[in-house]
Amino acid sequence: MIKQFFFAIGLLAFTFFSIATAESLYVHSAILEFYQDPGQSTQADSYHYFPDGLLVVQDGHVKKAGNYSTLKSDLPPNAKIVNYPNGLIIPGFIDTHIHYPQVDMIAADNGGQLLDWLNQYTFPFEKKMKDKQYSEDTAHFFIDELLRNGTTTANVFAAVYPQSIDALFTAAEQKHMRIITGLDMADRNVPAYLIQKPEVAIAQSEELIQKWHEKLGTRLIYSIEFRFAITTTPAFFKQIEALKQRYPTVHVHTHISESKAEVTLTKQLFHVKNYLDVYQHYNLLGPNTLLAHGIWLTTPELQEMSKTKTPVSFCPTSNLFLGSGLFNLAKVTSNQVTVGLGTDVGAGTSFSLLQTLNEAFKVLQLQQQHLTGLRGFYLATLGGARALNLEDKLGNFAPGKEADFVVLNSEGATPLLKRRLLYANTLEEKLFVLMMLGDDRTVMATYVNGKLVYQS
Ligand SMILES: [Zn+2]
Repeated sequence: MIKQFFFAIGLLAFTFFSIATAESLYVHSAILEFYQDPGQSTQADSYHYFPDGLLVVQDGHVKKAGNYSTLKSDLPPNAKIVNYPNGLIIPGFIDTHIHYPQVDMIAADNGGQLLDWLNQYTFPFEKKMKDKQYSEDTAHFFIDELLRNGTTTANVFAAVYPQSIDALFTAAEQKHMRIITGLDMADRNVPAYLIQKPEVAIAQSEELIQKWHEKLGTRLIYSIEFRFAITTTPAFFKQIEALKQRYPTVHVHTHISESKAEVTLTKQLFHVKNYLDVYQHYNLLGPNTLLAHGIWLTTPELQEMSKTKTPVSFCPTSNLFLGSGLFNLAKVTSNQVTVGLGTDVGAGTSFSLLQTLNEAFKVLQLQQQHLTGLRGFYLATLGGARALNLEDKLGNFAPGKEADFVVLNSEGATPLLKRRLLYANTLEEKLFVLMMLGDDRTVMATYVNGKLVYQS
């Protein structure tokens, strides 16, 4: 009994001491976080909602999240509390697929689809990344734009030039962001100026991995990137496979089954029955791999992805912009494949994951599928963390997770939202209105690793 008493006193003292250290942050607002996909579990146990909540952050990590009335007794006497009376705190948005060299060619119209658009706009802009100054300027703009939109983690395609990776990792490190990127690789079916010698690209990748991957004191992750199957020869794939085996903790990031023309060409080039067979053949599937798009994936491919725990990125604004097709969320999730959301800028037309959800809703409507507000916000947060195999670090406010979060204006950031939200009575209705009408203006503040990095 006495032992228990001292243990309890000790625990109280520990809690008080740890809550009272200088690096603590207390944020008072409504809080929403997810623990399961509301589309696949009973809704009540999939999320926590605290209409009057308190988020306690310590040394960049979540200490706890809960009702203000319950947690306020734990607060140290002089705790400085940051209040957002009209806010909604959610975990930072996670963009599972985006291209940073395409920032300056977003909204480029050539009237064609994926392969024409790549040739006319994308490749020439990627060539510009050869210029160190241009890469650095673009990287800083890109990071700021992510944060302005409430995106705290992104899985980013860079360019074929190593300094483009240095530029992005350096800009991300300055904000202490968790960013995943790597050297984009291709040795065929791209303009001559983007063609690499496999052994050179592999040596450069290896150097970049040693320099940046999980570098001490940072949150940076390296990913092996190749544009897609048709820009990679079998000989190059063999070397990519060996690189992945040498560095099993690095990620892999590429595209799959985005357009019908791409699927047809892939099957011709590799003499395979299914597109996925190529990546499977070179042992590139797994939870650290992210495949973007997957519009035309067949059931056997989805079953293989499920078996290997390989996730896919749903990029609705891009898929509509390029006329690539409609992502079948019901088919993908009923095959137990993990899904995150991607903006896919610059084929995607917005950095905002709220706007991405708006288009996701419409893509699913056209297939008689329904995306609720709750499921939308799950996909943009915990869904993304799962798709990037970072659920142990990100995605909700479980104690110990990295404190990346966003404060959304839940009373209306625009005159229309203000008016419309007056008539949204439930949480679900509110979330739906925010995902249909919200954008960067809805983001009031963005915190990365417990530090304020953007404020509107
Ligand atoms: Zn892409």
